[in-house]
Amino acid sequence: MAGVVPAMKSGFLKRILDRAEKIDKDSILDYMKQIAQERDLLVLMFDNMSEGTLFVDEEDMVVYVNQSARRILGLGDGPATPEMSMRRVLGHQDIYEFCKRMLEQDRVNFFQDYVFHYNDETRFLKINIIPLIKNNESYGTLYLFIDETDQRRQEQKLREAEKLAALTTLSAGVSHEIRNPLNSLSIHLQLLKRQLAKSGAENSEIDDTIGIFQSEIKRLNDVIETFLTAVRPSQPQFRLVRLYDLVTETLTLMEPEFGENRIQVTLHEEGDWPLVHADQDQIKQALINIFRNSVEAIVSQSAETRDDKQDQILIHMFRDGETVALTIADSGVGMDSNDARRIFEPYFTTKPKGTGLGLMIVDRIIREHQGTIVAHSHPGEGMRIRIDLPVAAETPRQLEYGEAKRHE
Ligand code: ADP
Ligand code: MG
Repeated sequence: MAGVVPAMKSGFLKRILDRAEKIDKDSILDYMKQIAQERDLLVLMFDNMSEGTLFVDEEDMVVYVNQSARRILGLGDGPATPEMSMRRVLGHQDIYEFCKRMLEQDRVNFFQDYVFHYNDETRFLKINIIPLIKNNESYGTLYLFIDETDQRRQEQKLREAEKLAALTTLSAGVSHEIRNPLNSLSIHLQLLKRQLAKSGAENSEIDDTIGIFQSEIKRLNDVIETFLTAVRPSQPQFRLVRLYDLVTETLTLMEPEFGENRIQVTLHEEGDWPLVHADQDQIKQALINIFRNSVEAIVSQSAETRDDKQDQILIHMFRDGETVALTIADSGVGMDSNDARRIFEPYFTTKPKGTGLGLMIVDRIIREHQGTIVAHSHPGEGMRIRIDLPVAAETPRQLEYGEAKRHE
């Protein structure tokens, strides 16, 4: 690089060149070694910068392009000193023309936004064009590229999350406001009933009507109550726990429900359990919602089909790389795979008295735990839900999957 770049002619180098005739061979070698070291250091520095840099001489030849510029501009692998024109190095006609236009219009020495597309992807760049001039002499142009794509995407996500939070706060507020007049309606209905009884005007028709009013009010109240539980922002209290313990505790809790419906529950686990950061109550709530859906799916099958096979819920736990996976499969009615994709949507329900909020809450809880949840199903083949949660870094080595057992 030193041989090509006029800007690299430091004072030191210039002095040597002026005296070149008088210097002996060994000293020249020493000087060259020193220059090579300096050059390596510079290249190392530039290659480790996260900003893309591209230096072009007066003839529009690329003298130097660092690794980050190659990555940001999608130029692929190639030498740091390509000895090619800028137009050829860049390949993308648009970005080349943008740079030239800005240079001509003297729009230099500040970062400008540039949006470009490659590999079906939109990338947001900041480009700074810096003409290198010393003593009125031009040495070429330095281009700096900063990739802001990830940052922009994060900001976008944050904005969406804020919007959603504002919307849920608003709707939670409105629901809360509806609950108060509902309660007062309910109280006044009771009063009315009592007054009618006192005045002797009560009859069974009026009684029925009041009964309908009361049950409708109760239904509305229930809808609001479930909605509020679903949208109320929760603050998970993360603790280091074993997912295994949470599962077994939830199973014990639901034992009567399984027994009453003659459902056999089997838990397969592989090895010892890695730790996870989790809010115990929330994870248990999520598991209860899932198990309850399984019970409902099994019970909703017609009596004949139910007798044919053993009703069961199969649970598997295993470590999968950096996550611990939990799958819950039931022998219930199952559903169309297109519908199965929608089960986490709020208010999606196929049950006459369903709320369609159970799995939305589950989804929110799992996401708050940095985990993922997916559902697979086919009609008549039951439902299979898989949850993946990140394994906590604090998991002791000997507790990792299978290891403790293997060493016994
Ligand atoms: P809800 O239970 O109130 O309907 P959920 O959000 O818990 O609401 O479930 C949404 C829908 O997903 C259910 O109505 C049902 O159609 C479907 N679903 C959930 N779990 C299962 C399951 N284990 N088997 C079959 N369908 C299920
Ligand atoms: Mg449910």
